[in-house]
This record gives sequence, C-alpha cells and structure tokens, in this order.
Amino acid sequence: MKAVRFILITALSLLAPNAQTQNHAPHTPAVAGGPIRVLLLDGESAGVYHNWKVTTPVLRRELEETGLFQVTVITAPASGGDFSGFDPKFNKYQVIVSNLDSPDWPENLRVQFEEYVRAGGGLVVVHAADNSFPNWPAYNLMIGIGGWRNRDEHAGPYWYLKDGKLTSDSTPGKAGAHGARLPFQVVAQVPDHPILRGLPPVWMHAADELYGTLRGPGQNMTVLATAHSDPQNKGSGKDEPMLMVLSYGKGRIFHTPMGHDTAALSCIGFMTIFQRGTEWAATGKVSQKAPAHFPGADSVSYRVDIASMDPEFLKGASPVVSPKAPVPPAAPGGPAPPHL
Ligand code: ZN
Repeated sequence: MKAVRFILITALSLLAPNAQTQNHAPHTPAVAGGPIRVLLLDGESAGVYHNWKVTTPVLRRELEETGLFQVTVITAPASGGDFSGFDPKFNKYQVIVSNLDSPDWPENLRVQFEEYVRAGGGLVVVHAADNSFPNWPAYNLMIGIGGWRNRDEHAGPYWYLKDGKLTSDSTPGKAGAHGARLPFQVVAQVPDHPILRGLPPVWMHAADELYGTLRGPGQNMTVLATAHSDPQNKGSGKDEPMLMVLSYGKGRIFHTPMGHDTAALSCIGFMTIFQRGTEWAATGKVSQKAPAHFPGADSVSYRVDIASMDPEFLKGASPVVSPKAPVPPAAPGGPAPPHL
C-alpha cells in the first residue's frame, strides 16, 4: 500500500512539480477544508489611546502567521455616520474578531450581527471592544461583561472570581477601571479547556491595562483565567476575569479584556491565547501547539518584530533626555563625565 501511495504521489509530482509551492506560502501549512475565514472589524474608538489603525494590522499578522486563517479587515463607519453602503456580509465568515469600540449601530446591522452569532458564527472580543455598544442587550449577552461608556448597575452586576468561584456583586457603581500599564500574572482557572491545554498554569503578561470592575449579564460565561487586580495600582483587590468563553445561541464567543496597545499585543502569551481563542470560536477546537518562549510565571516574553509595528516603539520606553548645559570635559586623570 505504501509503495502504491509513493508511486501515486511521484506521478502527481511529475505532473505538477510546483503544486505545493503554488498552493501555499512557505510557512503556511495545509488546512483541511481551507483556511478559517476571519472578519477583523474596526473603525472607531472612544479616544486616541486606542489606536485601532495601528493595532488592527498587528492582530491580522498574529492570525495570519499561524497559516490557519484568511483575514479580511472591514472598517465600519463611525457611529452616526452613513451606513447606507456598509454591507459586511457576516455570513461569509466563520468568526468575527472585534477591534471596534463604537457607541451604537443602526438596528438592521445589529439584527444581522445577532442572527449571525445565534446561528453559530464565532466572535472574538479584544480589549476595548468590550466598551462598545452599552445599550445593545444582545451584544452585552455575547461579551458577558463590559466597561465604560456610562455602564453602571443597570448593565448588570460586577463579576469576579472568589476562591476560584464565579461571583457577582450588585452594588451600584461605575463599570470599568484600570491602573498603570504594568506586567501582571495571568492564572489559568480551567486549564483543560482547549484554549489553555498544554500551557503553563501561570504566566506573566507583558505591560498592559488590567481591566477590573467590569459589569454585565454574565450569562453562559466561563472564566478561563484571571489576574489579581492590585490595590497598590488602583486595582479592585479581586481576581478579575482575563479570558472568558461564552455562548449566544449556537455561537461561540472568546473574550479577553487584555490587549491595550501593540506592546501588550506583542506578548507571546497574548498572541498564543488570541490565536487559539480565534480558532476555538470558529471551530470549537484548537489544533495549535504551545510555542517556544511562552512566558513563565515571573518573566515577560514578547516579540520585538511585533512590538516594533507601532511607530511609537522608536521613542523607547522612556523619553530621551538632552542635557541643557554642555557637559564639562573630564579633568585629566579625573572621572569620566556622566553618561546622559
Ligand atoms: Zn485600553
């Protein structure tokens, strides 16, 4: 049988010697049934601090370099703009990745989006996409919890983990807070979920906003991983949800509030989870292996080639300081001038 197969492959190779290189880029593995069709949605944010024009190409590259996904970016008009020519045809895609923070959408578009997810379409929500659409009940059921844009107790209770159990708190108050962007540990709560399987139980996420005190309906929501929100960094003191899976009708949703900027997105921990979460939302399975250099519990691990996709990267982590006065030359035999 082996010999027969060998001969068959050899014969096909003679007929089309370059078939493999014609069909696939060098690093693109063959995917049964073709690549997963992804709609990457952007177009608006609440402020310049969420620069979607920079982060969308980063998210796209992270998906495409797995060889599993075919990504189409669609930029929505800003809320209140002209939506008459906007027809994203959600049903062409297996999963929608949202990098969009919009206050509202026209009703016909909301209905199309709801029908898409209810019928089994996947959805991935990254960072400020959970600020979006505070007054759209179905969207808030899909994301489970969200923040800002005037969300308060009317959005639902606060949700967090206490002693490993999902806990809610209906105390009135604003939804959404974060401290300074610092590295923080992410702790797996459901380590055998396909998105987390084979990864370390605790890893250090690169500097990012740790979203806390998010509120929402929290229905059909499983918290896969948490991070402790440190009161010394304006935190809640609680174990806040960092990775969540939800269902809405037949649709699967993966939600992470991590990923403020390119520096955060360049974390190998984030990349891995984002790639796996998108595959899971689309198919219900994860075929990707754990990568080399996945961060450990005490050290960050990030990709410089990804981080440098942000023009701000060249400014460095701290501003360049120029001396106001000329530095005096060193006296002969004396100490060298200070290095500024
Ligand atoms: Zn942010």
